[in-house]
Amino acid sequence: SRLNSRGTITTRSLLLQTFNKEFYTSTERKLEGKVALITGAASGIGKETAAKFINNGAKVIIADVQKQLGQETASQLGPNATFVLCDVTKESDVSNAVDFAVSNHGQLDIMYNNAGIACSTSPSIVDLDLGAFNNVMAINIGGVVAGIKHASRVMIPRQRGSILCTASVAGVMGGLAPITYSTSKSSIIGIMRSVTPELCKNGIRINCISPFAISTPLSIDEMKLMFPGVEDQQFAKILHSASELKGTYCEPIDVADAALFLASDDAKFISGQNLVVDGGFTSYKSFNFSMPNQLW
Ligand code: NAD
Repeated sequence: SRLNSRGTITTRSLLLQTFNKEFYTSTERKLEGKVALITGAASGIGKETAAKFINNGAKVIIADVQKQLGQETASQLGPNATFVLCDVTKESDVSNAVDFAVSNHGQLDIMYNNAGIACSTSPSIVDLDLGAFNNVMAINIGGVVAGIKHASRVMIPRQRGSILCTASVAGVMGGLAPITYSTSKSSIIGIMRSVTPELCKNGIRINCISPFAISTPLSIDEMKLMFPGVEDQQFAKILHSASELKGTYCEPIDVADAALFLASDDAKFISGQNLVVDGGFTSYKSFNFSMPNQLW
């Protein structure tokens, strides 16, 4: 507190203290008392979003197929984060993760279907490997459908909840990623639209977030496969240089901020939407990038 020359607290500082308290409690804790489950939260976008949700008052279940990394992430994020081992291709794992949220915290308010993988299959439809295609679909689509199904199972009786799914700019515009990945991501947007009517009738909102290319293990690992010998820092620079919005580039925090908005009451009348976080790219830019097929 601020003291005047006589050592007493001034009216101005008292008013400021009151304002700050109101300001921070009303704007910084948008998920107070909420319980969120985030798939693929051991790293990247999911981890950043878990941290953002916890800072806003939520308890977060980190559901991921990577056990050690998931446990490390949960302990880094503190007592309001819990790790659950979950392979989203197994419906029983997804169902158990949802039940874990309810039995440990009494409810599930937010389900974020974020787990996904990239794929570096041939960009030609003629050479498409259907085995690899089905594997990607099992994670990127099957995992999302299972997440929506089991979150709805516990949200419908409460007639409330917010479901989020990570799609991609590659699901909005062709030519930004291999066919398999683009197909999986555009399907997520389709699934979201398909279930919106039923969920709306039950008071549940569902939205997608479609990020631009972000430097995360997913994108870096794919670039390593495509361009062996190139240093990791170079990949991040290449991804960042693809940004069309001058002076900045897409980062996990940009997706976490979008997720917080959509998950919270700030978006209480928003459902069935795909929020594209791409610095304007897909609204006017045709694909023009020195490395082929990898912008996610
Ligand atoms: P990431 O590799 O950091 O995170 C992906 C997480 O998903 C990992 O922790 C991984 O273990 C987990 N995962 C993979 N398969 C799983 C499975 N079967 N079950 C449970 N968890 C599984 O990558 P990221 O970039 O943070 O990816 C998160 C999401 O964002 C993905 O759906 C991805 O397609 C999407 N996305 C990424 C970018 C990008 O450029 N990085 C752009 C647009 C969309």
